[in-house]
Amino acid sequence: MGKVWFVGAGPGAVDMITVRGRELLARAGAILYAGSLVSPRHLDFAPEGCVCADSSAMTLDEMVAWLVEQAGRHTTVIRLQTGDPSLYGALPEMVRPLTRAGVQVEVVAGVPSFAAAAAAAMESLTLPESVQTVILTRAPGRTPMPDGERLRELARHGTTLCLHLSITLWPVIREELFAAGWPASAPVVVVGKATWPQEERIVRGALADIEEACRQADVRSQAMILLGPALGACQVDAAPHSRLYAPEFGHGFRSSRET
Ligand code: SAH
Repeated sequence: MGKVWFVGAGPGAVDMITVRGRELLARAGAILYAGSLVSPRHLDFAPEGCVCADSSAMTLDEMVAWLVEQAGRHTTVIRLQTGDPSLYGALPEMVRPLTRAGVQVEVVAGVPSFAAAAAAAMESLTLPESVQTVILTRAPGRTPMPDGERLRELARHGTTLCLHLSITLWPVIREELFAAGWPASAPVVVVGKATWPQEERIVRGALADIEEACRQADVRSQAMILLGPALGACQVDAAPHSRLYAPEFGHGFRSSRET
């Protein structure tokens, strides 16, 4: 039996996959890729004769059956998914039946889309003294939120929020954030298709007008919504600096200096 590797492809551009992920693709016997979100250009890294299938139209059972069958034929089988496999990637649902079928599994991290979005927009998701926590979440859509994770409860912390799978849910987002006390003027940054060549879009606005701005920029899918008081700090001279790099702040790699 071969091994199935869950490999994070990163946010989109082919050169955003890790070196480890690319090297695995280069020796793969079979690749099952999430064609709705992963660019088929990644398959250019695969060797000649590699069996490639798009999972977009498959059910979970069909994907598992495909991976088990291919693991019976090839040493290296890859499930290539968007961003990092630990976020909204249906990892446990696939790992459990594969393990039950006697297939070895390993995971390779990928650059998550929230990080790619922050980089594209040149945003820091943390800011000294004001924001030291980042919440990776989503708005409730067809998938309801678990108890204790309602957006209005998470938003009450006033920290950075990265909303996945939520670009069509602006009315809910506004309702939840207003209920948490956020003003209509709260800054929002939306990054559509971060790192995708020619397709990346960065839209800035406030809670009140961002939906319209996204419509005008034609950002309707595969978008990351960033919210919170840390946004815009690269453009503001008065933003506080990290203590880590202050001359008087000594640590294991540098002793403190008198100022
Ligand atoms: N595992 C992925 C997330 C999968 S859920 C990760 O680590 O990022 C799919 C959601 O991720 C999309 O609805 C969108 O919110 C976000 N996303 C994925 N790729 C993106 C990209 N290139 N730019 C912006 N958002 C992206």
